[in-house]
Amino acid sequence: MNYLSTRGLAPRAGFDDILLEGLAPDGGLYLPEHYPRIEAAALRRMQGMSYADIAFEVLHPLLAPMPAGELRDLLRATYTAQAFGSPDIIRLQRLDADIGLLGVSQGPTLAFKDMAMQLLGGLFERALAAAGAELNILGATSGDTGSAAEYAMRGRRGIRVFMLSPFGRMSPFQTAQMYSLLEPNIHNIAVQDVFDTCQDMVKAVSADLEFKRRWKIGTINSINWARVAAQVVYYFAGYVRSVREVGEPLDVCVPSGNFGNILAAHVAREMGLPLRRLVLATNENNVLDEFLRTGVYRPRAPEQTHQTSSPSMDISKASNFERFVFDMLGRDAARTRDLFERQLSGQGSFDLSADPAFARMREGMVSGSSDHATRVRIIRETFEASGIVIDPHTADGVAVGRRELEPGVPMLVVETALAAKFEATIREAIGTDPQRPESARGIELLPQRFVVMKPEVDALKAYIAEHC
Ligand SMILES: *Cc1c(COP(=O)(O)O)cnc(C)c1O
Repeated sequence: MNYLSTRGLAPRAGFDDILLEGLAPDGGLYLPEHYPRIEAAALRRMQGMSYADIAFEVLHPLLAPMPAGELRDLLRATYTAQAFGSPDIIRLQRLDADIGLLGVSQGPTLAFKDMAMQLLGGLFERALAAAGAELNILGATSGDTGSAAEYAMRGRRGIRVFMLSPFGRMSPFQTAQMYSLLEPNIHNIAVQDVFDTCQDMVKAVSADLEFKRRWKIGTINSINWARVAAQVVYYFAGYVRSVREVGEPLDVCVPSGNFGNILAAHVAREMGLPLRRLVLATNENNVLDEFLRTGVYRPRAPEQTHQTSSPSMDISKASNFERFVFDMLGRDAARTRDLFERQLSGQGSFDLSADPAFARMREGMVSGSSDHATRVRIIRETFEASGIVIDPHTADGVAVGRRELEPGVPMLVVETALAAKFEATIREAIGTDPQRPESARGIELLPQRFVVMKPEVDALKAYIAEHC
């Protein structure tokens, strides 16, 4: 499979070339040259398969020319009952006659990011070993992404992780989840400042190209194509395991921030999965909902981004959105370039409301947003009706999914995290703490390993140089 850039000015590349890359050299994002097609007969065969084997069917054409045997072994070693709590890997639950949950948060950090990150760990290790290379992953986190990356990379050969987090500003649970990792290749750096400062420090180090090259610094952010590809798999698994017969329509509702998760649903549908409508749910940061309603995409400034009780969706601009727009415009790279390079940087927004492609797109994708009061009410109502405790992000999905239900078509809401990660909001909603999975009980009592650092770029560089 060859990959092309959404801006059309980068050379085609293979999967191995883009695995460790972020942006394409022309500033665009990589997508496969075409979407491989999975036919109904193949979907029916998936109904009896393990998650790892479904993953093989979906990923083999996207990751070609990776040898089939090697890929199958890697997938079987990644999607294990030990890492994901059960041999099913995903968990399907029914809230009522119309709405189900697609549980993809059964991995080590209790959020869906594990589904892709765990595979990335194996893919990175393999690629680095083949090239005789090393990689130092530098990132900043306010919670979910950083811990998923650390759990995926712990103990891997050729990889170190330097993860910045705002000292004393994460929940005790999130802090414990990250800082209790004792592997020598994981470096937790607690910066005495806020998350934005952590992110600025990462940007400053990455902007020093000489330092970056010398110390082999890389990132794993949400635009990494392999992450999106790995997420495509659970839409296939969720579909074939929840319908009686392949071909039945199903709507999915996806709590969204950077548009990575719902982009994976779009790719699954392009590959032939009979998803009918994709329903995008946002919180108070409703950039994407606004686009789907009006055709105007208007990213916000970081200071206009609200801090909400579904914090992993608190984004000002959706980093994967360009991939979707490129597809929506019939893969017109010149127009994509004009929108994202000229119009966004010039006037801070673009408007597709008059484009016929926008009207067509809306037949297959709708949206809505939620807020704190709705989220808390939905958590309470869901608990009272079904006994199931959902997390705040999933609650945004259930809120919007319910509004968009249509007769005769079931809705599967993606459960993007477990409630155990967000105790304060759950207590507010139902008056008690959510249950924790066995693996997370007493995590705050484990020994922790981290260094405290002043918000100084030179201190960070010195630390990296000393620990490579
Ligand atoms: C990352 C995250 C999201 C947003 O996913 P995107 O792929 O960025 O749209 C939603 N919910 C939770 C719990 C997350 O961790």
